[in-house]
Amino acid sequence: SGRWARAMAILREFEDKCGTSLGKLRQVADAMTVEMHAGLASEGGSKLKMLISFVDNLPTGDEHGLFYALDLGGTNFRVLRVQLGGRERRVVKQEFTEVSIPQPLMVGCSDDLFDFIAAELAKFVATEGEEFHLAPGRQRELGFTFSFPVKQASIASGTLLNWTKGFSIDDAVGQDVVAELTKAMERKGVDMRVAALVNDTIGTLAGGRYFNNDVVAAVILGTGTNAAYVERAHAIPKWHGLLPKSGEMVINMEWGNFRSSHLPLTEYDHSLDLESLNVGEQIFEKIISGMYLGDIVRRVLLKMAEEAAFFGDVVPAKLRVPFILRTPEMSSMHHDTSSDLKVVGAKLKDILGITNTSLKTRRAVVELCNIVATRGARLSAAGIYGILKKLGRDVVKEGEKQQKTVIAMDGGLFEHYKKFSQCLEDSLKELLGDEAADNVIVEHANDGSGIGAALLAASHSQYP
Ligand code: ADP
Ligand code: MG
Repeated sequence: SGRWARAMAILREFEDKCGTSLGKLRQVADAMTVEMHAGLASEGGSKLKMLISFVDNLPTGDEHGLFYALDLGGTNFRVLRVQLGGRERRVVKQEFTEVSIPQPLMVGCSDDLFDFIAAELAKFVATEGEEFHLAPGRQRELGFTFSFPVKQASIASGTLLNWTKGFSIDDAVGQDVVAELTKAMERKGVDMRVAALVNDTIGTLAGGRYFNNDVVAAVILGTGTNAAYVERAHAIPKWHGLLPKSGEMVINMEWGNFRSSHLPLTEYDHSLDLESLNVGEQIFEKIISGMYLGDIVRRVLLKMAEEAAFFGDVVPAKLRVPFILRTPEMSSMHHDTSSDLKVVGAKLKDILGITNTSLKTRRAVVELCNIVATRGARLSAAGIYGILKKLGRDVVKEGEKQQKTVIAMDGGLFEHYKKFSQCLEDSLKELLGDEAADNVIVEHANDGSGIGAALLAASHSQYP
């Protein structure tokens, strides 16, 4: 019928605009490399902030003692404690708890958010058992994973540049987040020192390196997306401090804010951006990460419903609700293997109130999920390829001993959305070619960021 043809035309046009040919991915990767250079050259030199983390040494394995970590950066926050046993005994014991952040706190005021966090931390400290040992006379120490753009002034201080991922707390912007947390801990009676301020990519890199010496970069694909890697200190022109002894510095790219004329953007991406809390920012993140993929699918379905009566004469009202279709639901539709696509049918009914969908309608929905996920996964691979190029690890060097390159990956999107992570890995192989791909390993660092932050707290402890 005419309607079906119109709906398919909308889908095909979208697919076309989402195209990520190998040539396009190479252009994106090259643009990423160029922006990395620009961001390292000068402050504000690029959309890529290329933030200096003040981490110039990654964990060695010798760390020991009791350390806490706190991870704030999405809808949940985690508190963790770990007993480190040094080179022989490694991670002796760890425990964590996860709490979801009430939505009003994400858009309220700074004190309320930090009071909530400190109160949860206080509760967790109160449950510390006898298996954990704090050396006598010592204060507890904490690694604070804060996964928003921060301009660090030292390993344990830094001011918030801007919020992302649906957070918007005006009075916190420009504040030192460690000072904010420390004041809240004092208000809640928690006696603890923040020894390291990192973000989740730095934490994942540190945790990854602790378990595997070949880890040189970390990528997060969760609610948002970001990457960090180990740079040579003398390749950072904007760094005017003393060169670290190690000769290295970990860089927090804040790659979610990457943008380039080569990115395949569609009308749906433009309207999603315009209706977001951070208009014009985090464009890479808005086409790749878990917070947004489901909503892109919803926007295309809405257009198909409005202009081609894809779901019948009446446009389903729920299809107009922003973020009603979440990425985990999109993922379960995409992975539906039943012959009648019953998961797709059930999700359309339960989430969007759309009943009695035909098999061909369901198939089109799966195809749409595939288009959106494929674009995100392939662009993520292009970003990683850009980092490898910057590090000179994208090619096999004649006559050199073959060095393994491991990228530590984490985040709910990478972990749970299998078609996404598979496509990312396949695309990276495609970009590298068989020979170079043999030396590059994408490794899931399960919750490495918490342990990583605790390890960095250990190496920056006030006690020698
Ligand atoms: P955060 O990024 O908030 O710190 P996570 O790394 O756990 O936390 O990632 C959570 C995000 O991962 C969710 O917001 C969601 O977008 C995505 N996600 C979680 N589960 C799935 C899933 N089954 N399929 C696809 N995406 C998922
Ligand atoms: Mg996280």
